Amino acid sequence: MPRRIPSIDAVLAIPLQEISRIAAMRAVHAAFLFLHNQEMEFRRWQRELAEIPAPPFGEAARSEWLLRRFTEMGLKSVHADELGNVFGLLRDRRPDEDQPLIGMSAHLDTVFPPDTNLESREEGNTLFGPGISDNAAGVVAVLAIAAALKQSDIQPTTNVVFVGNVGEEGEGNLRGMRHIFSSAPWKSAIGSLLVIDGAGADSYVTHGLGSRRFEITFRGPGGHSWSDFGIPNPIVLLARALARLDDVLVPELPRTTFNVGVIRGGTSVNSIPESATASVDLRSTSMDELRRLEGFLRSVVTEAWNEVPLPYRTGKANGSKVTFTIECIGDRPASELPDDARILQVIRAVDAHLGIKSVPRVASTDANIPLSLGIEATTIGTGGDGGAAHTLREWFDCANRDLGLKRILLALLALTGVNE
Ligand SMILES: [Zn+2]
Repeated sequence: MPRRIPSIDAVLAIPLQEISRIAAMRAVHAAFLFLHNQEMEFRRWQRELAEIPAPPFGEAARSEWLLRRFTEMGLKSVHADELGNVFGLLRDRRPDEDQPLIGMSAHLDTVFPPDTNLESREEGNTLFGPGISDNAAGVVAVLAIAAALKQSDIQPTTNVVFVGNVGEEGEGNLRGMRHIFSSAPWKSAIGSLLVIDGAGADSYVTHGLGSRRFEITFRGPGGHSWSDFGIPNPIVLLARALARLDDVLVPELPRTTFNVGVIRGGTSVNSIPESATASVDLRSTSMDELRRLEGFLRSVVTEAWNEVPLPYRTGKANGSKVTFTIECIGDRPASELPDDARILQVIRAVDAHLGIKSVPRVASTDANIPLSLGIEATTIGTGGDGGAAHTLREWFDCANRDLGLKRILLALLALTGVNE
């Protein structure tokens, strides 16, 4: 049973005044100034980080880099876990301190294979390079906020854990976050998580887009197109199943989609193939719809197989069987932030204070994992502007990074609480 996200009525009533109070504090002003003045250092970090390869399952060098930065700036209990997720605490945890921490994270991985040319360049305020925005900018935001807090006199009431996590992109399948929220010591230590991903300061994620990905394979004995004619053809069986899948009606709300992205199979035009495979992507903002769609996918595959003549299903024909497999190759839980969640109230109040007209967003991000466990979380941008993510032309415009960092700092301090 997922835990219920607590709604804190007091916060519902006070946020805007509370944000104004925090923003007016002298120490917070000093931190804003620090964030402004350090921009050139942030650019150096961002380019240095973006040039370190970090394909899915190959983030080790970036983890090392972040461990060094966390250590240099004096974070406490700096360490990496067995997957390469990196952690640093704002201050030592007292033995009696059992209050959940506020977490702030950014993913370290990229979509780029290890041999990609990651060279970056700078033109005016714009940085270019693969991964420069998604998510070197996010990691830099985590570092920037940690540095600003370390050098300031701000005393957050609740301790903060800064995280650089692995495995967000594609086949990484949120493995970094999944590990953090499923094993000791972080499993139940984080009460609220702010995920920083990509550029911009005008949205926040309220719905974790769920996805399930499958590889469907039909196998048969195969043979010669002329002499073995009549043997069931795996490509045809697969095509039948996929054509039926295409007939399924999915709701517009909650939005639910499916896609056959890749098909493979066969060896030559005059051979009955031995196998045929399709990769299928199912998505929904609702876990129920996602399960329903998966059920349908399984039934169309089974139906196509059921139409194979019995001797081929039992293996009595030529001793060679026709079989199928449905392998799950990706699984991201759908999840939703309740409207009265504290983190949502905080972000909205911060945006009102800063005059940002932000919009809620549906996305598949690291926040899916805590959200699916009933732990409040959202994903916001690092400020600035960016584009061409997941391509070699990716760019990040640093001009308005300031605003994004202010927004993150204010949100973090509203979550931790802070006294004069
Ligand atoms: Zn990202």
